[in-house]
Order: sequence, then structure tokens, then C-alpha cells
Amino acid sequence: MNHEAALSSANDIAERVLAPASRQNDKEGRFSTEAVEALGGAGLLGLMLPAECGGSGLGPRTFAAVTATLAEADASVAMVYLMHICGTATIAAARPGAAIAETLKEIAAGRLLSTLAFSEAGSRSHFWRPVSRARQNGSGVIITAKKSWVTSAGHAQGYVVSSLSPKGAGPTDSTLYLVPAGSVGLSVAGPWDGLGLRANASAPMALENCQVRPELQLTEDGAGFQAMLNVVLPLFNLGTAAVALGLCRAAVAETAAHLKTARFEHLGQSLGESLPTLRAQLATMQIETDGLAARVDDLVDHLERPRETTMLRVLETKAAAGDIAIGVTSMAMRACGGAAFSKHTNIERLFRDAHAGAVMAPTGDVLREFIAKAVLGMPLF
Ligand SMILES: Cc1cc2nc3c(=O)[nH]c(=O)nc-3n(C[C@H](O)[C@H](O)[C@H](O)COP(=O)(O)OP(=O)(O)OC[C@H]3O[C@@H](n4cnc5c(N)ncnc54)[C@H](O)[C@@H]3O)c2cc1C
Repeated sequence: MNHEAALSSANDIAERVLAPASRQNDKEGRFSTEAVEALGGAGLLGLMLPAECGGSGLGPRTFAAVTATLAEADASVAMVYLMHICGTATIAAARPGAAIAETLKEIAAGRLLSTLAFSEAGSRSHFWRPVSRARQNGSGVIITAKKSWVTSAGHAQGYVVSSLSPKGAGPTDSTLYLVPAGSVGLSVAGPWDGLGLRANASAPMALENCQVRPELQLTEDGAGFQAMLNVVLPLFNLGTAAVALGLCRAAVAETAAHLKTARFEHLGQSLGESLPTLRAQLATMQIETDGLAARVDDLVDHLERPRETTMLRVLETKAAAGDIAIGVTSMAMRACGGAAFSKHTNIERLFRDAHAGAVMAPTGDVLREFIAKAVLGMPLF
């Protein structure tokens, strides 16, 4: 599969599977297993896995384009996909000796969905500082942890779990483990009833004396933090920005459609023909959306050709994307008036979904802290 084929599959799935069901799934808070099956069937779950693992070996450019396309139709599914790609990349980067070959084969075959279980109730959005600590048990470990939000909770087959290392001395000395669904002690610990992204099952999960075999330890002891920074963060931030881009594009398209079709019959004009203020708002939305697309392209370029400014761009792009998505969808709500407010269009779903990115860790505020510290030459942690 090449870039064009992957994008064409994503478009097809977005049109055929996601778009027709997104409104109802949002209403019911229903996780779309059909969407995951379609993504798996099309080979998109193994998008970035190397060819020797059965994957397509594609890079961040295709990942961002596929994710934005999915988000245009249903941001909940796009977020499930993004978490899976981050989980899969972490598994694929596992230390030598980790028994991950079978898992990667299953992912490439489209039969295994993965996700990240980092955030903990104790350290909240500061996912790089888990409060749980794995306990050594023979050659493996036992983990007890309260994971506060896990996208695809109860639906994924593989959970990448963080916990402080049994002997870690510092607050970021974590280790990452692969915990398969069905492991004794792993459970969904509550419902998911979010403002937005309602169809992505981001429920809390509990690990209660959960035994992890030594071959499913993904990083060396204490090397979880480095994997979070080097493997997860760039992809997560790019993917979140791509979700924001998809939401913005959808908001522009829905607003344009509404301004063309809704009419002032007494004036004999559509809203768009009649009101320059609405045209100006639509223009601003378009400018912001294209600006975000340029940021996403710029980050892709930095990830393809890493350089001194790459980490700064990783941080900046997610921070900017969160605000842009909220701004553009808020403008869409305003421009489409009572019709948007009363759910005659999909715009209020886009508006609700758009609010997730900025509060997902690293949050927009934390990113600003990191960016300013980097600019000032201060240590980030
Ligand atoms: C839809 C959704 C899906 C999610 N999926 C996952 C998942 O799959 N896996 C996972 O591990 N987690 C996931 N999360 C959790 C997410 O990454 C964050 O950990 C969570 O949203 C943080 O919420 P909180 O209330 O604990 O934030 P808090 O930490 O309580 O933060 C509250 C406020 O304080 C601000 N703040 C915090 N620290 C600082 C600081 N140092 N400087 C300035 N401001 C600061 C924050 O920006 C925020 O505005 C998900 C969350 C959501 C909403």
C-alpha cells in the first residue's frame, strides 16, 4: 500500500462506514466496532509497521492524512485510530527480547487494536509521572493502577500501560508494558459519557494486581519516559493536530452548505448571499483551517527530516491545533445560528469534539509551559 492507496481507503471507509453512523454513535455514546473492522480489513491498522512485520511501512505524512480524513467524518473513530497508531509504534519499538512478533502480526492482519493507558487518577494530566509502581514478582511484575482515561477501553485487544519501575528512584522512572485484553485484574472501571468524542469509549480502567509476564515488558526498566517522549509524543501530537484539521474542514464544509441552502424567503436570498458578516466568518474559518493544514505539513516535514527545531514544532503544533479547532467550530456555531444550536446540522458535534484536543495530555497549557521553557533554555522537567 502506498500513500495514495491508504488515503483512498480512508476516504472510502469515511464515506461508507463512518459518515452514515457518526450522528447516532455520538448520540448513544456507541463505540464503532464496524469502523475498526473496516480499518483493519483495509490494512490501515498496520499503516506504519515495517514491511517485515506485515505492515505498509508508511510514514507520518500518510498517518496525518488518513487521520484527518477519518476525523472529517467522525472524530471519535479518528481518535481511536490515532491511539492505536501510538500504541502500535510503542510495541514495535520494544526492547530486544520482548515477545511482540505475534502481536505485530495480528495488528498488520487487522485483528488487533491497541491503545495507551498512561494517565492516572493520581497524577492526572501529568502522564509522564505515574503514581503507580510495578512490583517485581519472580521474573515478571504485578501492577495495581487507576488509569483515568483509556480510549477504546474494553474494545482494544492490547493496552500499553505505564507504571513506575519496581526500583526506579526518580518520579519519571517508568516502564511500559503490554497488557493484553482479558488479563486477570484488568477491567473497565466506569462509563464514558464525555461532552465530545462520545463514541470512542475513553473510560477509566483499573489494574488490580495484574500480572505481566517479563516478555511483555516493552521498555527497559526506567526507559518508559524516553519512549513516551521519543516514540509517542511526536505521533500523538501530529495525530491530534490531524484530528483538529479534520474537524475544521468538516466545520467549513457544513457551514458553507448551510449558508448556501438556508434561505431568507422574504428577501429571496440564501444566508450566504444575504449577509456579508456570515461570509466574513466563513472566510476566517477557511483561513484558520488552511493555516492549520500548513502547520500539520510543516510538522510532517520536521518528522521526516528531524532537525534542531523538531521538538519545538511537535509541541507547538498540538497547542495551536487545539485552539484553532475550538475557534473554527465556535465560529461555525455562531454563523449557523439557531440551526446549529438546535442540532439541525452536525456542527454542534464538531464543536463538542473539538474541545477534547486541548485537554488531552500534554494539554495546551502544559505545552505552553514546555515551549516557553524551551525558548528560555530552562529544563522542561
Ligand atoms: C476524550 C479523551 C480521551 C483520552 N484518552 C486517553 C488515553 O487513551 N490514554 C491516556 O493515557 N489518557 C487519555 N486521556 C487523558 C488525557 O490525556 C488527560 O490526562 C486528561 O484529559 C487530563 O484531565 P484532568 O482533569 O486530569 O486534568 P488536570 O491535570 O486536572 O488539569 C486541569 C487543568 O490544569 C491545567 N494544567 C495541568 N498541569 C499544568 C501545568 N503544569 N501548567 C499549566 N497548566 C496545567 C490543564 O491544562 C487543565 O486545564 C483522554 C482524555 C480525554 C478527554
